[in-house]
Amino acid sequence: MIDKLLGPKHDAYVGFIRRQMIKDQIEARGVKDQRVLAAMDKVCRHCFVPEGLATRAYDDYPIPIERGQTVSQPYIVALMSELLALKGGEKVLEIGTGSGYQTAVLAELAAEVRTVEFFPDLADAARRRLEKLGYKNIFYMTGDGAAGWPEAGPYDAILVTCAPADIPPALPEQLKEGGRLVIPVGEEPQDLLLVKKTAAGLERASVCPVRFVPMLKAA
Ligand code: SAH
Repeated sequence: MIDKLLGPKHDAYVGFIRRQMIKDQIEARGVKDQRVLAAMDKVCRHCFVPEGLATRAYDDYPIPIERGQTVSQPYIVALMSELLALKGGEKVLEIGTGSGYQTAVLAELAAEVRTVEFFPDLADAARRRLEKLGYKNIFYMTGDGAAGWPEAGPYDAILVTCAPADIPPALPEQLKEGGRLVIPVGEEPQDLLLVKKTAAGLERASVCPVRFVPMLKAA
């Protein structure tokens, strides 16, 4: 981690790099939600990447982690978070814990986050990291996120950070009316969808092309 390598006196430097990331990569591309920008400023992205890549943590790219997975590019994390339109009191479901970076951003923005990860070792590492950082409003599950986490639903918002061929039906079922689902679907580059659940049914809007790892299925 940058502060481990450089010592606490360099916190100010890391803070500076993080604010540059927000200004040049995130605000410059149109993200305006002040709560999202504040969350991106608060969460130490370098705490979530492999040690050897800590100095690259604030660059404009995804970062590889274990098991061929990635931490999404900072702009995509901010964009997807903004699309959920969180105000602070919500219950959110995340599919694809990965490093736990996006989970931390969501935990800053909502009251409670439930997160599901396919690989037990990634889930354990993310949990340890997030607990060490002091997050108490995150709950963890290992398994196939296509099934959601029905026992804890319904949710105000659902965020998916791996790409299925199409929307798994269990996810909108676990959304409250008025709730939002943000999910990449299809072949790479996938289509990032914002799905709103209304009394009349699901409204699907396409946001932009994105590149995510595929949603895995148990053998
Ligand atoms: N949001 C993460 C990025 C995760 S990459 C971060 O900020 O680091 C996508 C993650 O989805 C990977 O960790 C992958 O293991 C997980 N994943 C893939 N298929 C899944 C499935 N069916 N259910 C739950 N998680 C899945």
